Amino acid sequence: MTRQVYVNGRYLPYHQAGVHVEDRGFQFADAVYEVCEVHNSQIIDFPRHLARLRHSLDELDIVLSVGDGALRHIMRETVRRNRVRFGSVYLQVSRGKAKRDFPFPTPQGPATLVCLARASQPERIAALAATGISIITEPDPRWQRCDIKTVMLLPAVLAKQRAMTAGAHEVWFVDNDGQVTEGASSTAWIVASDKTVITRPLSQRILPGVTRATVLDQLNADGFSLQERAFSVADAETAREAFQTSASGTVLPVVKINGRAIGDGVPGPLTLTLRQRFHKYAAVT
Ligand code: PLP
Repeated sequence: MTRQVYVNGRYLPYHQAGVHVEDRGFQFADAVYEVCEVHNSQIIDFPRHLARLRHSLDELDIVLSVGDGALRHIMRETVRRNRVRFGSVYLQVSRGKAKRDFPFPTPQGPATLVCLARASQPERIAALAATGISIITEPDPRWQRCDIKTVMLLPAVLAKQRAMTAGAHEVWFVDNDGQVTEGASSTAWIVASDKTVITRPLSQRILPGVTRATVLDQLNADGFSLQERAFSVADAETAREAFQTSASGTVLPVVKINGRAIGDGVPGPLTLTLRQRFHKYAAVT
């Protein structure tokens, strides 16, 4: 089966798919994106991803003349054509192609819209969840509008590379006050000694994680004690449990932070419960 990619109205074979060399996404990272989990061939939490995409587009004044229903159709069709049962579907929108110049082009041409679907190896993620992952912490080098999901991901790329070199899976960024902001590509959570689940409140310093929102629903529905507040690296290192959330990994236990074991050094029971029950709370499309 040849992989197919959606590019500006057409489904193309993977090796023939491309955008213009003067696409503003390529030249300026002037583009936003979404990644949704595909679970049992269904797109998870599509309405929340769509709402966040619209927020990102609005904040950057990128005009996309494709409606919500059409976006949903394109994502579902890309998943279907690529026969993805478990994996992810990626949507990217850039300000389109224009002669290279910093200000927005006038008049603004059509946005570039790309959609790819990719199968994952569920057993690889299951193995990570079974053992738990280790993470390191680093100063947060990113800009002040992390609530916008842009493709300007070089700080995350470099951080992930350092994590890999250090034998870790993820980096949790830390603000100037020593408080954890979020992971390079995930939301950071800890469970305090009294079993209160803690995650940083939404602001322009973090991405409003879709998985975060669904896990908050889950925690509220199941009557867990919950606090949306900032926590320090020391709080994290001495936590009872720690975990991260993202569309690509749902809930993943963190068992080591900066080389220090968290709790007993194995995935915590509360984290595993959240992971096992996550899809009961997520919306399917
Ligand atoms: N924070 C950042 C910086 C991310 O890049 C991501 C996902 O890519 C997340 C958090 C988790 O967001 P979501 O749960 O919507 O995948």
